[in-house]
Amino acid sequence: MADVFNKEERSEIMRKVKSSGNKSTELKLIAIFKELNLTGWRRNYKTKGHPDFVFLKKKIAIFADGCFWHGHDCRNTKPSQNKIYWDKKIARNKARDAEITKLFEQRGWRVFRFWECEIKQGANNKKIKKLSEQYLK
Ligand SMILES: [Zn+2]
Repeated sequence: MADVFNKEERSEIMRKVKSSGNKSTELKLIAIFKELNLTGWRRNYKTKGHPDFVFLKKKIAIFADGCFWHGHDCRNTKPSQNKIYWDKKIARNKARDAEITKLFEQRGWRVFRFWECEIKQGANNKKIKKLSEQYLK
């Protein structure tokens, strides 16, 4: 299927979306950690699979997944143009996410993946609360 952008334009756009989108989500998650008085987390810890955060001692890996890039079924994350192109791309991301989760679990880690839209809900989000209360206190 024809793309309205050429290859270079496309990757430039993707880079922009990716870096800006992910960064603000990560910063928001840091704010939530602070609000919940969670300590011991590290950002961008260098390990295979590149989790956004780890709680090393607890062996917990945390991923902040952008709703668009990782294919969350929520609000305006479905592209209306170039659907086939994006569907393929997002399907690949999802498959890779699943592989990485498995990789950590096989090593005895717990994996938490938070969607961008969940992180936007803040410290009251159910999954974030559960992580905090069940695994980090
Ligand atoms: Zn979402």
